[in-house]
Amino acid sequence: MASVDFDYVAVSSYQEAVEALARGGEEAKVLAGGQSLVPMMNLRLVRPELLVDLNPIGAAPPSVNGSTLVLGGLTRHRTLLETATVRRHCPLLAEAVRYVGNARVRNRGTLGGSLAHADPTSELGACALALGAEIVVQGPSGSRTIPAHELFVSYLTTSLMPAEVVTDVRVPVKARHEGWGFAEMVRRTSDLAIAAAAATVVLEEDGTARHVTLSFAGVAERVVSAEDDAVRSLVGSTGDDRALGSAAAGAVAALSPSSDVHASGEYRRRVAAVLARRALRSAFDRAAEGTSDAADGAADGEEA
Ligand SMILES: Cc1cc2nc3c(=O)[nH]c(=O)nc-3n(C[C@H](O)[C@H](O)[C@H](O)COP(=O)(O)OP(=O)(O)OC[C@H]3O[C@@H](n4cnc5c(N)ncnc54)[C@H](O)[C@@H]3O)c2cc1C
Repeated sequence: MASVDFDYVAVSSYQEAVEALARGGEEAKVLAGGQSLVPMMNLRLVRPELLVDLNPIGAAPPSVNGSTLVLGGLTRHRTLLETATVRRHCPLLAEAVRYVGNARVRNRGTLGGSLAHADPTSELGACALALGAEIVVQGPSGSRTIPAHELFVSYLTTSLMPAEVVTDVRVPVKARHEGWGFAEMVRRTSDLAIAAAAATVVLEEDGTARHVTLSFAGVAERVVSAEDDAVRSLVGSTGDDRALGSAAAGAVAALSPSSDVHASGEYRRRVAAVLARRALRSAFDRAAEGTSDAADGAADGEEA
């Protein structure tokens, strides 16, 4: 099937994009990597009358500003995987993006597009929650910053207002004694996740946890953070297996994944508990080892 007809405008600034979207009204849509939007258009699940193509704007290379990693909205998935700045300062993103689609998808898909699309199975969405990322958006009333935990509302729905576009994503750089972990289950490589878990742990000098985060993809109508009580039980612990198992069980007890053709809700929940334990295990171990880089096995990338 092919898309219905639409008008097309390519813009060279976010301001132009906002103006074009405001003129186009509800029937206008942003085009970034096109890896979710175009298939949906071809299936006629969405029928925009105007596409506003952001690609000519481009993205500045990932950079560190103080304690923040700044990523342009149009940063390609491949850049997250291969850029030394990202792998060093936010290894969780570099690791998780390996699970997004395939090389073709990662060459075109963008970070801003993934977050704006708000697929509940999004690896990058789960990481944005675990990392406490902030999403910078521009709209008719100017610019504002949305904490990741306020961005994802429900299935394919965000708190973006009409004619707002994601311009940047700001992520705290990895702290000293911080570890990260990501675990996912898929039926076949490049499929959307049955379930995935992302975790971060910051240790005190004595090896006990000062701060723990845990988030999930694939187990709700949006990506979700584990409830505070579940992760709080790990603060002050050294992350022994029993504590991790108990925290993972507590985290998934609050979830009610729905069933679909790929997996029953109960199966997703049981898988999520295993993945949460693995992600937390990796995060504690890496924090203890002081591991500084990510994406073992990924090609070495140039510093962008
Ligand atoms: C075969 C295949 C496998 C895939 N596997 C995975 C996977 O495993 N995990 C995963 O997470 N994704 C997967 N995807 C989707 C992929 O990651 C997309 O790149 C991503 O979901 C959307 O990013 P995009 O840049 O392509 O956005 P687009 O497809 O261009 O846009 C997606 C939506 O976001 C909006 N949008 C885009 N950019 C912005 C912006 N800057 N501001 C505001 N709104 C914006 C668009 O209007 C549209 O509604 C897969 C896709 C394919 C085709």
